[in-house]
Parts: sequence; C-alpha cells; structure tokens
Amino acid sequence: MDCVVVRYGELSTKGRPVRRNMEEQLRSNLAAALDARDINGDVDRTAGRLIIDTEATEAAVDAASDLPGVVSASPARTVDPDAEVIYEALADLAREREGEFETYAVRASRAGDHPFTSPQLEREGGAAVGEAVDAAVDLDNPDVTFEADVRHQVAYVFAERRKGPGGLPVGTQEPLVALVSGGIDSPVAAFEAMRHGSPVIPVYVDLGDYGGVDHRARAIAACEHLAARAPNHDITPYVVDGGESVDHIAGHVDRGRMLSLRRYFFAVAEAIAEQEDAAGIVTGEALGQKSSQTARNLQVTSAAVDMPVHRPLFSVDKPEIVERAKVLGTFEDAGISAGCNRLAPDKPETKGRLEGLLKVEPDDIFERARADAADAERVDI
Ligand code: ATP
Ligand code: MG
Repeated sequence: MDCVVVRYGELSTKGRPVRRNMEEQLRSNLAAALDARDINGDVDRTAGRLIIDTEATEAAVDAASDLPGVVSASPARTVDPDAEVIYEALADLAREREGEFETYAVRASRAGDHPFTSPQLEREGGAAVGEAVDAAVDLDNPDVTFEADVRHQVAYVFAERRKGPGGLPVGTQEPLVALVSGGIDSPVAAFEAMRHGSPVIPVYVDLGDYGGVDHRARAIAACEHLAARAPNHDITPYVVDGGESVDHIAGHVDRGRMLSLRRYFFAVAEAIAEQEDAAGIVTGEALGQKSSQTARNLQVTSAAVDMPVHRPLFSVDKPEIVERAKVLGTFEDAGISAGCNRLAPDKPETKGRLEGLLKVEPDDIFERARADAADAERVDI
C-alpha cells in the first residue's frame, strides 16, 4: 500500500465555495493529525477525495479515521487506470490476504473517460480474483470487498474501509464552550459539537470539597481525548475553582440546589464564551436523565444565560451514549462517582419554577461566576 484514500460525506451537499473551504479545512486537519503522530506523508485534494501519500498507511488510516468529517479511510495501492493493470492489482491484494476470507466481492467506481465501464471492472476483476485465490463470490455478504476507485489519471485499489466519525471537519463552525465534567455524558456531548465543526473550549468547574483531585484529573483526561480529535485546534481546558461558590449555593438553596448549581455553571461558561468569542454553550444534559434534567428544570437553568445552551444528547439513550464514550475513549475514566451526587439534596426539585428559585437563590451567584471565570486556570494538555 502506498497511500490512504479518505472519503468525506456531508460536504458534498454544500455549494462550491463552501465545499472548497471545508475540503481545505479537512486537508489541513489531516496534515496536522499526521504531524501530531510523527507520520511522514502529504495530503492532496483530488476530485471528491483526499489522498494521503505515505509509506505508513496503517498509522495514517488510524489518524484519518479519528477525525471529524471523515466518513471512511482505506489503505490503498495506486495504479494506472488501465483495466488489465487494475485486475492484476486486485488479484495481488487477494493473494496477500489468502486464507483470511472465504467469500468476496469486487466493487468499482469510476469518474472520467476510460475505455471500460464499472460493471465490466467488477465482472472481470472478480474473475481475476477467483483465479488468484481459492474463494467464492458472494455479492450480498462477502467476507472481503476488493475495490477499485478509478479517477481520471489514476486508480486506487483497496480491500478495507475504516469508518470515521463522519460529520464536518473541526474548524468549519464557530467555537463553542463545552462544560465538561469528565462523567460519561459531557465529553460525548463536546465531541458531538466537534463532530459538526465547532472547536470546543472545555470548561471544568472544580467543586472543591464536593469534587477532588480525581475528578479534576479525569476531566483533564477527557479533554485530552477531545484534543486528540482536533490536532489543528487549541482545545486547552479552563479549570475553574468553584469550591467557595458551590459551598455558598449549598448553604442557601436546598431543593433547587442542583438548579442553582447549573445556573452558576452556565454563567461561568457564558463569561468564558464572551472572553473567547465563542457562539454558545454545550452540555451533556439529556431530557429526563436525572431530576435536574426534566424539561421544566432545563427551562429554569437555560434562563440563567443569554447565550444558547446546546444539548447534543437531548434525546440520546444512555446505552448509546455509553457506546459513543467507549469509541471516544472517555468511558473508562468516567466510572468515578460524580461529585455532584454529594451535593444533591434528599428531595431534589423536578418541576422548578424560576420565581420560586429566585426567592432562595443568592443574588450574587452570577457575579461570583464572572469572578471565578476570570480567575480560571488554563491547563496544558
Ligand atoms: P456528565 O456525565 O456529563 O457529568 P451527568 O449526567 O452526570 O453528565 P450532571 O452531573 O447532571 O450530568 O451535569 C449536567 C451537565 O452539567 C454535564 O453534562 C456537564 O455538561 C455539566 N457539568 C456537570 N458537572 C460539571 C463540572 N464539574 N464542570 C463542568 N461542567 C459540569
Ligand atoms: Mg456529572
């Protein structure tokens, strides 16, 4: 193999200039990903695909398939767009994998002028593979699919498509502040924002006596996983010392405590978003997942800020979130019980009303939030 073919999806629906910018963003993100992993290689744009020219195809395919915007990536061999040459290359690929599969299919796609058609490549390429190895054709459910992707001047042959996250390249949307606790949900929510183009500025609020070093460490670890998916952007987290403010809230608010706590978090996030010129706030909340996340309570917490609060997991079931956390790599650390649990009152509010909460909530939590945000520390990862 001498290159990696990288496919992207949603971009193809955009108008031409937008699409070009998005391709260029993905190209430079890919180049940065190779750099970050010390992989030698060049990334080129060709009609509808990106090609990584590299000897380290396995490492490069790993790097590509981690990046938002990438639908799939394949280690591939470059050959002349000549039918006989393509058949031979397909047969070679099959010989290299002999014994690893019992059934196969050959698929071809083509763009440009060639003296052959795609169905012809599939038929005759399939026959060439059948002569090269002991295996049977199965077009419905093959163990391996050998593919030829023929462009104007060049053809790529390959036998694997590694799935990427899909979505849009990071950097094609404005930045968002992501409230990251290091639990299961919030890193996945932050990644969803990244997966649709927004670089995130992670914000972790240290809860003081209710949190602890382990919580802080796992939040930072989660941010490292996020940063690895955006090697072209600065994903350095803000760590906010919220201990005193949280104590203050806990001392004044009982049933609605978790709501005031969220309102304080949102205000901290908003202050940092203004400072960073970010366009909104992302949280890991999901409708009905816990008492603080009823529809009514989300109304009361959102009212704390003017900025939009985005909740990418709003309707995602927990098992699905867990699956996504495993793929992202943040599931393992998320096991430590959340500090919030120690803060929760015995009878938490589930149908909070703003008027009621405002009667007990200390007036100064927004002022405190701004001060705590201003004192926040950025932790290099
Ligand atoms: P998670 O797994 O993300 O912690 P959760 O279901 O435990 O989610 P909550 O503890 O109710 O949810 O928190 C709701 C949201 O508030 C989180 O998804 C996260 O965005 C934010 N959040 C909670 N705790 C913190 C914290 N210490 N620092 C920053 N953000 C936080
Ligand atoms: Mg939590």
